[in-house]
Amino acid sequence: MNDINQKLERKFGPKKIKYDEASLNEFGQDWYKGISPNAQAIFFPENTKDVQDILNFAKDHNLKLLPSGGRTGLCGGATAVCKEIVVNMKNLNEISWVADDLLKCQAGVVTDNAKNIASEKKRILPIEFSATSSSMIGGNVATNAAGAKFIGYGATRNHVQNMTVVLPGGEIVELGKTADKDATGPNLMELFIGSEGIFGFIIDVTFKTYPIPKFSESVILHTNNLFEVYELLKEPSKMITAVEFLDFNSQHLLDGNAKSKYEILIELNSDSKDEIENFLEHCSERMENISLLNSRQVKNFWDRRELLPVKLSEMGAEKFDFCIDKLLTEKFMAEIDRKISHAKVFNFGHLGDGNIHLNIIFDDNSKDQLTEVYDILKSFGGSPSAEHGIGKRKKEIWNEFPQYKQKLELLKTLKKSIDPEGIIAPKVFFD
Ligand SMILES: Cc1cc2nc3c(=O)[nH]c(=O)nc-3n(C[C@H](O)[C@H](O)[C@H](O)COP(=O)(O)OP(=O)(O)OC[C@H]3O[C@@H](n4cnc5c(N)ncnc54)[C@H](O)[C@@H]3O)c2cc1C
Repeated sequence: MNDINQKLERKFGPKKIKYDEASLNEFGQDWYKGISPNAQAIFFPENTKDVQDILNFAKDHNLKLLPSGGRTGLCGGATAVCKEIVVNMKNLNEISWVADDLLKCQAGVVTDNAKNIASEKKRILPIEFSATSSSMIGGNVATNAAGAKFIGYGATRNHVQNMTVVLPGGEIVELGKTADKDATGPNLMELFIGSEGIFGFIIDVTFKTYPIPKFSESVILHTNNLFEVYELLKEPSKMITAVEFLDFNSQHLLDGNAKSKYEILIELNSDSKDEIENFLEHCSERMENISLLNSRQVKNFWDRRELLPVKLSEMGAEKFDFCIDKLLTEKFMAEIDRKISHAKVFNFGHLGDGNIHLNIIFDDNSKDQLTEVYDILKSFGGSPSAEHGIGKRKKEIWNEFPQYKQKLELLKTLKKSIDPEGIIAPKVFFD
């Protein structure tokens, strides 16, 4: 045991500190395995004071800290790279209702646990993606997680009402909305949403929840062009809560065959059965090869959809997470096919938001091709990281997209002012 770990154990006790090889590996990295983990130790705080104490310890010993949740992040944000003490929030896991519609969750609450508590009260916390059985609330907010229900409910940001944070200086700060109208300066809570941990520790978050709609249906559509889906997406409808797609190669990878160029699931939710039925009638008049799914078929679609990114990771795919104008998605995919050669291309994701999880298995994984992919995105506008963040993996985005230059400078200035010694989350976003 080295001197630092000895001191850590003496101060916090063996329950809160782990530094054995297995723990360093398990808690020292996130889902992206392209960066080797290099943690000093893993700390499991049990209350806010523990977080303040580890900050003081880090300052006294010139050490760095890394906030960590369920470690399902896809960009190495929760992977320790320079002997940080990983501060894993899993033991901060209390949940309580603070009003009929407001659910307060500590940062270490597993997302599905929060969703289940909401659904017991016939309410929904619409943070919906395939890793919610492991991801945690602090991580969801720090990455502004979105997912399948974005088109209906927005990203995590839309549901956050209040939060408590601990700043790098150890101050506890309550941030949030005190009233529907509030002009008391900028909304500083926003600083922590999508911050990937660089401004401090999120300790707890109070979420708005929503009533579960009375009626829910899903339809599946097979088509060789997206025109009819675009027609649907042009009409604003609160009923459409997900439009998910798998391209030909994705279907083929999952099933060994593909029925059409695109397989698309459209999810509808409403309190009015008539409204859903009218909409379904309207769809079947306009679209061919559309069919209503039963619950088993719905589950089967989402199971396949969840399996796909896992399979592609195992195959070593280069993953992109782009968002462009949803009405340009087909044109974009055609352009990728045309220009990216010596590669197998898979497209899937949230068609309703124009969020394409483009996965490419390059024959020759050269940097030139990466730039070429980004060049195509640039010509379409949009975001090079729709929901997965930047972390330590996607820092090339700052160089590839000069329009982010000023944002990056402002981010660095804010970081310097909030965390002048750079104690928390080093090497996230920038070195
Ligand atoms: C199979 C799969 C599918 C996915 N699908 C989606 C998807 O559809 N949409 C989507 O948005 N994401 C998706 N993700 C990515 C990931 O699940 C989300 O980003 C999730 O919100 C991360 O939560 P986490 O608790 O695992 O965070 P972690 O991975 O532990 O951490 C993520 C970042 O947040 C910081 N952080 C964690 N906790 C705190 C805290 N308490 N205070 C301050 N900073 C903190 C970490 O330092 C790190 O930078 C997917 C991941 C997988 C593996």
